[in-house]
Amino acid sequence: MAEHREEQREEQREELALQLLLLAPLEWFLLGGEPAAGLALLQQGGGAAALCGHVFKVGEPTYSCRECAADPTCVLCMQCFLASAHRHHRYRMTTSGGGGFCDCGDAEAWKTGPSCQNHTPADQNRETEEDPVSLLPPAVEERSCSIFSIILQYAVDLLTWEQEDQLPAGLEPPQRSDSYYCMLFNDEVHTYEQVIYTLQKAVNCSQKEAVSFATTVDRDGRKSVRFGDHQFCEQAKAVIVRSTSRQSKPLRVQVMHSALVAHQCFALKALGWLGQIIQYSDGLRRILCQVGLRPGPEGENSSLVDRLMLNDSKMWKGARNVYHQLLMNSLLMDRKFKKLFAIRFAKNYRRLQTDFMEDDHDRLVSVTALSVQLFTVPTLARMLMVEENLMMTIIRTFVDQLRHRDAQGRFQFDRYTAQQAFKFGRVQSLIGDLKYVLISPPPQWSQQLRTKFLDGFETFLDLLRCMQGMDPVVRQVGQHIEMEPEWEAAFTLQMKLTHIITMMQEWCSTDEHVLIEAYKKCLSALSQCQGGLPDGEQPISLSLAGHTVDTFRYQVSQEKVSIHLPVCRLLAGLHVLLSKTEVASRLPEQLPLGELSPHLLIELPLRCLVLCAQVHAGMWRRNGFSLINQIYYYHNVKCRVEMFDKDLAMLQVGASMMDPNHFLMIVLSRFELFHTFSAADLRRRYREANKDLAQQNTLIEEMLHLIIMVVGERYVPGVGQVELLDEVRREILHQLCIRPMAHSELVKALPENGNKETGLERVIDSVASFRKPGVTGRGLYELRPEWSKRFDLYFHHYSRADQSKAEEAQRNLRRQNGEDTALPPPRPPPLCPLFGSLVNLLQCDALLALEGAVLQWAVEPSGGGWTESMLQRVLHLVAMALLEEQQQLESSGADEDVSFTFSTRITRPGEAPSTSGSVLALLESLQNAPHLEVHKDMITWILKMVGNIKTTRERTSGSSVSVSHGRRPEESVRDKDKAERKRKAEMARLRREKVMAQMSEMQKHFINENKELFQQSMEDLEAAATATEHSPPSLEPTCVAHICVGPMRVGGAERRQLVTCILCQEEQEVRGHGRAMVLAAFIQRSTVLSKNRSRGIPDPERLDPLFMHPDLSVGVHTASCGHIMHATCWQRYFEAVQQKEQRRQQRLRGHTSYDVENGEFLCPLCECLSNTVIPLLPHACSPDRSVEHPCLETWLKRTNQQAAALGFTHRKQSHGAAQQVEPAVPDRFRVGFDPQNSFSSGVGEMINTFSMSAYKVGLKVNPNEQDPRVPVLSWSTCAYTLQSTERLLMDEKKPLFGSLPCRQDDCLSSLTRFSSACWTAAPIRTVQNHFIRLLSVLVPIPDSQLEDAPCILDVDMFHLLVYSVLSYSSLHSLDQSGRRSVDSAHLHLLHLVTVAHLVQVLLTFTTGELSMDQDGEESEEEQLTCQLYGRLRDHLGRCLPDISCGWRLWRCVRASVLPFLRTAALFFHYMNSASPPADLLAAGTGPGQWEALCSYLSLPSNLLLLYQNQRTLLEPLIHRWCCHPGVGQVLHGGGVLVRFPRESNRLIDLPEDYSILINQASSFTCPRSGGDKSRAPTLCLVCGCMLCSQSYCCQTEVEGEDVGACTAHTFTCGAGIGLFLRVRESQVLFVAGKTKGCFYPPPYLDDYGETDPGLKRGNPLHLCSERYQKIERLWRQHGIAEVIGHAQEANQTLVAIDWQHL
Ligand SMILES: [Zn+2]
Ligand SMILES: [Zn+2]
Ligand SMILES: [Zn+2]
Ligand SMILES: [Zn+2]
Ligand SMILES: [Zn+2]
Ligand SMILES: [Zn+2]
Ligand SMILES: [Zn+2]
Repeated sequence: MAEHREEQREEQREELALQLLLLAPLEWFLLGGEPAAGLALLQQGGGAAALCGHVFKVGEPTYSCRECAADPTCVLCMQCFLASAHRHHRYRMTTSGGGGFCDCGDAEAWKTGPSCQNHTPADQNRETEEDPVSLLPPAVEERSCSIFSIILQYAVDLLTWEQEDQLPAGLEPPQRSDSYYCMLFNDEVHTYEQVIYTLQKAVNCSQKEAVSFATTVDRDGRKSVRFGDHQFCEQAKAVIVRSTSRQSKPLRVQVMHSALVAHQCFALKALGWLGQIIQYSDGLRRILCQVGLRPGPEGENSSLVDRLMLNDSKMWKGARNVYHQLLMNSLLMDRKFKKLFAIRFAKNYRRLQTDFMEDDHDRLVSVTALSVQLFTVPTLARMLMVEENLMMTIIRTFVDQLRHRDAQGRFQFDRYTAQQAFKFGRVQSLIGDLKYVLISPPPQWSQQLRTKFLDGFETFLDLLRCMQGMDPVVRQVGQHIEMEPEWEAAFTLQMKLTHIITMMQEWCSTDEHVLIEAYKKCLSALSQCQGGLPDGEQPISLSLAGHTVDTFRYQVSQEKVSIHLPVCRLLAGLHVLLSKTEVASRLPEQLPLGELSPHLLIELPLRCLVLCAQVHAGMWRRNGFSLINQIYYYHNVKCRVEMFDKDLAMLQVGASMMDPNHFLMIVLSRFELFHTFSAADLRRRYREANKDLAQQNTLIEEMLHLIIMVVGERYVPGVGQVELLDEVRREILHQLCIRPMAHSELVKALPENGNKETGLERVIDSVASFRKPGVTGRGLYELRPEWSKRFDLYFHHYSRADQSKAEEAQRNLRRQNGEDTALPPPRPPPLCPLFGSLVNLLQCDALLALEGAVLQWAVEPSGGGWTESMLQRVLHLVAMALLEEQQQLESSGADEDVSFTFSTRITRPGEAPSTSGSVLALLESLQNAPHLEVHKDMITWILKMVGNIKTTRERTSGSSVSVSHGRRPEESVRDKDKAERKRKAEMARLRREKVMAQMSEMQKHFINENKELFQQSMEDLEAAATATEHSPPSLEPTCVAHICVGPMRVGGAERRQLVTCILCQEEQEVRGHGRAMVLAAFIQRSTVLSKNRSRGIPDPERLDPLFMHPDLSVGVHTASCGHIMHATCWQRYFEAVQQKEQRRQQRLRGHTSYDVENGEFLCPLCECLSNTVIPLLPHACSPDRSVEHPCLETWLKRTNQQAAALGFTHRKQSHGAAQQVEPAVPDRFRVGFDPQNSFSSGVGEMINTFSMSAYKVGLKVNPNEQDPRVPVLSWSTCAYTLQSTERLLMDEKKPLFGSLPCRQDDCLSSLTRFSSACWTAAPIRTVQNHFIRLLSVLVPIPDSQLEDAPCILDVDMFHLLVYSVLSYSSLHSLDQSGRRSVDSAHLHLLHLVTVAHLVQVLLTFTTGELSMDQDGEESEEEQLTCQLYGRLRDHLGRCLPDISCGWRLWRCVRASVLPFLRTAALFFHYMNSASPPADLLAAGTGPGQWEALCSYLSLPSNLLLLYQNQRTLLEPLIHRWCCHPGVGQVLHGGGVLVRFPRESNRLIDLPEDYSILINQASSFTCPRSGGDKSRAPTLCLVCGCMLCSQSYCCQTEVEGEDVGACTAHTFTCGAGIGLFLRVRESQVLFVAGKTKGCFYPPPYLDDYGETDPGLKRGNPLHLCSERYQKIERLWRQHGIAEVIGHAQEANQTLVAIDWQHL
């Protein structure tokens, strides 16, 4: 650390020297005077740019407006966004990856509102192209010209300098020293670990230094790792090179002369200075631009900027960053020079990209990344297209990089080496550039633009031709393929190009000339590709249903077929555009439509679709996953627009140009089904002979589905008469027909355009209603009921699974509404004229023959000859045809003849092959077939429709008749009820099954021993398990006063406790001498109540836990799931878990969600994380009412004597000789007595087990039964757990008693009873000593050894009460007088501690904010409080403020003492099993509560009377407390002063708007690496500390292991438990210890009620306070560890994460 600080100071010194010695003189000279004044003058005179130009830091939030941004790359910085109009629009928020700048003020970037309020130009007139240089004083202009050119020249010379040992001419120092740097350079090949390891070896540095070197190399691109003479540095270089050259190319190292390094450093600083100075004036900026782009002496490419760009890939990262930043501040901010620079950039484009391919740095630090700044400006992009032929350049550069081709010139990716694959990864950025160029189609076309675009288009077609037919597959028969062929590269390419292809079509659609030319080019490209298509294939002739067609023989199942057909698909897209733009009908003479051969057009797409069908049918199983994946992506939303959708479109194109019968026959033939339908009885024979019937059935289904789609899919503008939004709406509708969906699910299901928009928001509200989420889950959209009529079962984008889910959902819906379950096709939109003839497919002879055949088969009750799906599809096709006919009838005029005559055609008897009867007759006969019950509704619908059409035709009027559905509301209500009941029953069954399953595994070990018990029904078991032992605080007879402590206490008692073991099911009574019963429990350290997180972790070996400080900085918390077991059963279970774990570890080296070595296990019943067990102990005995109870004074005196006697004896035993006079031993007090243990060995053992756990966890030490601190930790966890429970009940405004869940109630009860008995497990002397020390805080004990008692300001009084009550028994047990006055002792202790607490509160009282004084009489309490306070001031004098207002004092005392009393009541309630009074069972803090509480505790309701009534006795004690030196010290600020009442801890406040957090995080720098941005800024939700997580720089050693910042922080802030918000990821992180953690949904939601982990969607996020409260409650309930446990149990991948590195 010290070293680090030294380094920082050195850096600061150098920075200062640089400023004073080098830069200041430049500024004086430049401005001709004092720089500050000169710059201010410049700024006024020249005015700065109206562009923001803020350069983004990594992780900084950026905002884009989804309504107004020209494209998604247009972004605003936060300041501009907040001052812009867009903050009220639909915006998107992302975090910047660094680089890039704010586009505020750029008129081209925004459709509206280009400038925020801060960047709106003052006078609009200055917009005109006035030369800003003219505004500069001429002298400044001249001087800046020369300075800028000298400095820039100097910097460029040095940054591009390649010699290691020499300097450019003129810079050589007069005397060369032998001083060198060994400079290590960054590369992307070697890992951090490799570099660190190598450095440690090569330059002998520590691990820490090596980490620091590696971090700097990674950040700046280079770092000197050694300084010295040449040889010294060469040695290091040799070692580094040698040790890194083994696996890969070695790390780059240079030994550089120190003078060179110094010059380079200054060059960078000088560039930075230039960047700053030009921001003062547009004129200076313009001059720098001029200097930079001025051609140099070597002509072409010799300007300084050219030289920088062309050397970019040779420079180190730091240098690149500096000059890129300068380019952004200068050339890119100047309107005129941005254009000139863009031209230079475009001219060098090819070379820059080629350099980039060879370079191994991230694109972010390459100059090529500047393309986004230039190409996204539409005017620039079009200018570059026209003047520099940019489009062609980009595509050519791209194609040239992919050199591997097959014989046909197609790309071949399968032979790629790693090197080529890497290059392929980099070359994809070129597609990004192309996308920028094409992102907005031109508003107007110039002739030049047309030419250049078409040139580019042609080049693009060349690219597509290289893809057409790539990665062909051949069906594998016999053996499975040996190696999965490579397919991903081709699909990556396709996916990347998808938007480009779509954009090309968009461009074409805006100009009919371009469209026509593009269409021609595409067609000719296609015919070139298909030149030899039918080559060698035999021509054949097919005939069916009286029609004949010629085609050729080709079988997908036997020949090569490729899924990549981009040229065909582009043509399909353009053809649809011809229809959409009506160019086809307006200018048919310009189109080569006559040349089209529909047979050829459909051939390849059809093959592709048949391939899919065959894969579906299982015919390609032996081709492996590669093919399955390809088919998956072919249909996937990311690709389908330019793959599947276009293939379908192409079939529509072809079908609309062909005789429908011919089309169908070719389809049949390609599906290899022609023979199935061509002869009627062939099918039967075939069926008998063929094993692959199922396969063939699937093919028939797929084929019918394809026909449905070809005729029915009309929601593409151009195919059907629809708008783009209709298409989107239909997609959404069909998604929502499956089930209600969240916004993000819908977005994922829709294709995005190049602007990342789906159009969802524009239509969603019309089809769906939004349902808000609760505390969990997310908001959902539900389909509006009226839209379900538009449901189409054969929607082309449904997968099979989607389809069956949607079908079921829709049938259920109709059933619920009391409708019939037929799902007829919806009414389709009309087709566009170009596609109009498609409908004829529905009534063509071939299709009728097909339908007839299937229906004929269906007459027979199946047997494999046909399938339900087949029949369903045929019925659908019939229904579609009828709908078509009806629609035509409706729209036609009265006398018009409707040519679509399906209804009459189906009455005709079938021709060959199905000669049996007409389609209609078949349908009628099938209507009542018992085996077709499911289809009955649909057939009925069809027959009704036929009837309707018939009547319509007869009337020849256009009145519409539609099939209506009858509603029977009552029935549907009844159905719903039934369904609900059924659902509940099902849930109950599932729950039972789950419990069964959980139990069964663990029970295996016990089954043999307890066979008959397992006959019991599970219900009994469950009831027993949850309700065991729990006794709700029942109201006992009200005549008895409810008192929980002291001789008058009620309860306890002889109540028998019967409990059932969850493992063996045996019932058992809880007895001290019986079989031990235990409760699964989880113990953890906690800082939830801490008022002082800065207190360091105490040294566990030396910590004295006997006195809890009132700041409660670390406590021990115990929780339980409430499940009870026999101790022996549990032990056996735990051993089984241990063994299982051992076996598992041998098999697979992984972790579990629980750490067996630390005693962790999961509760066998509920899987709750546990790490110990609490023994169950019997209730306390009833108080002995026969004895006389001593008063406080007597008791105190006697106890004092006893303590003194004990103390003396103990000392005598340990020191041998007695130096003092032996004190008088009280009557019948047997000092040496060893009381008999009242527990069986089994119970004793369990007491010991839990004591050890509390000790081990509480102190983080190894178990040691001899340690005197063991019992203290047991008491501590009891006190702390009660305290935290009380806080929760108070803050949640729940009644003190009766509101806890049973499991918690059981836990507290057994924990308290355990604590009161745990002293028996420790040596009695130890406990006695504890008691004496505890008592000595309050009462002077005549013993010189006890001087070290803390002052009362340093002790938490509740802990003191609990400890002294619990340890008192050890003293009392020696009293053989037969007076069982232990209860009065408890009461006296309570009184004493209460008074001490009153004093403690008053001592720490502060006036705080002034509130109104109470009017009127002072009450008795107020007067007495005032009196007591006066006494305290007498003792302490001016340490205490003078307060005479009794009301205020009393108010504070009452508020402070209340939590103490409540916790004490809980404690005695559980210890003595005393039932509480009714007032405390009700919520609220009314006046009755206080009285009830005091009386329950046997205290006067005026607490001050405790003092007042015992003044003589207490006064000396109070005096002693006040005079403790510690009191004065604390009050004077010499310690931690805790004031009362202690406020409850909450998680930190979070801002409502998430972007505030992001912004905060982006300006957060790593505290260790000097001003570096943190990569994963993470916010501690407990204390608000921001951390630099998941990074080497901030690793710390904790307990001998390097851990990340979060884990380290967790140890100090949360004693091992941490809650964080990972700001960049918008994710909550829970951490427990070093090995466990999980992610939790963040409390931030977007407007659609969804979280956005990873900020992927970028919708604005707002705080959901309910969810945040839920997290807070989890924390305060100590439930974090349990949540982690469950999460890890549910998701095994979480277990594998290295949580400690976060
Ligand atoms: Zn800005
Ligand atoms: Zn702005
Ligand atoms: Zn906007
Ligand atoms: Zn048992
Ligand atoms: Zn449990
Ligand atoms: Zn913290
Ligand atoms: Zn850091």
